[in-house]
Amino acid sequence: MTGRVYLVGAGPGSPDLMTLRAAEVLRRADVVFHDSLVHPGTLAFAVSAEKIAVGKRSGRRSTAQKFINKRLVDAARKHAVVVRLKGGDPLLFGRAQEEIDALRRAGVDLEIVPGVTAATAAAAELGVSLTRRGLSRHVVFVTPRAGQGERGNDWAASVLAADTAVVYMGAGLARAMCAELVGRGKPPGTPVAVVENASLPDRRMLFGTLAQLPALAHRTGDGPAVVIVGEVLKDALALREPEFAEEIEALLKRG
Ligand code: SAH
Repeated sequence: MTGRVYLVGAGPGSPDLMTLRAAEVLRRADVVFHDSLVHPGTLAFAVSAEKIAVGKRSGRRSTAQKFINKRLVDAARKHAVVVRLKGGDPLLFGRAQEEIDALRRAGVDLEIVPGVTAATAAAAELGVSLTRRGLSRHVVFVTPRAGQGERGNDWAASVLAADTAVVYMGAGLARAMCAELVGRGKPPGTPVAVVENASLPDRRMLFGTLAQLPALAHRTGDGPAVVIVGEVLKDALALREPEFAEEIEALLKRG
């Protein structure tokens, strides 16, 4: 007899942004394998589970994916309710397919519980519609990061083609992103926002133009951040405080 593995979205951070279904599955969990960024208040819903952190923060050591896959399969042979808890929505930029395939190959029963992804949490923080009528009918979720041994993607082509782009795992690559996009014809005055720690008390939102993106990214901390690019941000950008504009200018001069 094997148990069932639930691939569950924890939402963007704040525990009250996970779904009721996620909370219910956590409550019944025997064991929870969670990403390192999952909020302790979210894990607290798993009242009787053993909780095991399994990575992943870019640039830091993380448990190898194959090892995670194996542990999930092994756990399902021992426990009735195994939860794999991932930040945001579990199927977006989270290597979920590797886990799904491994579980299917092993004949393990699987259920997926979707979650609020960083893009929609960031839009909520900004109070900006990613599909504002008249400005945007096309939103892309994209990342410039490719894992080791993966073929590179032309992420810039997606951003150039989109009315609105939400870039995951991109804040650390802001300089290269800015150069690539401007070099390929995106107007340097295109409004951008960097949203760090969306939904959490230490959230941060920075507005500027594409040309200012490296300076904006420089000002963020080490929390997870998305970069949003597009005309839908123009009113938010126009409202930014003048004091803030000076700060950006100074940073740009310092390089
Ligand atoms: N599955 C997740 C994404 C995992 S990739 C989701 O659906 O949201 C990790 C990236 O997500 C981070 O590098 C960052 O770009 C973004 N991210 C996750 N949580 C975030 C948050 N609270 N605020 C802003 N960006 C976040």
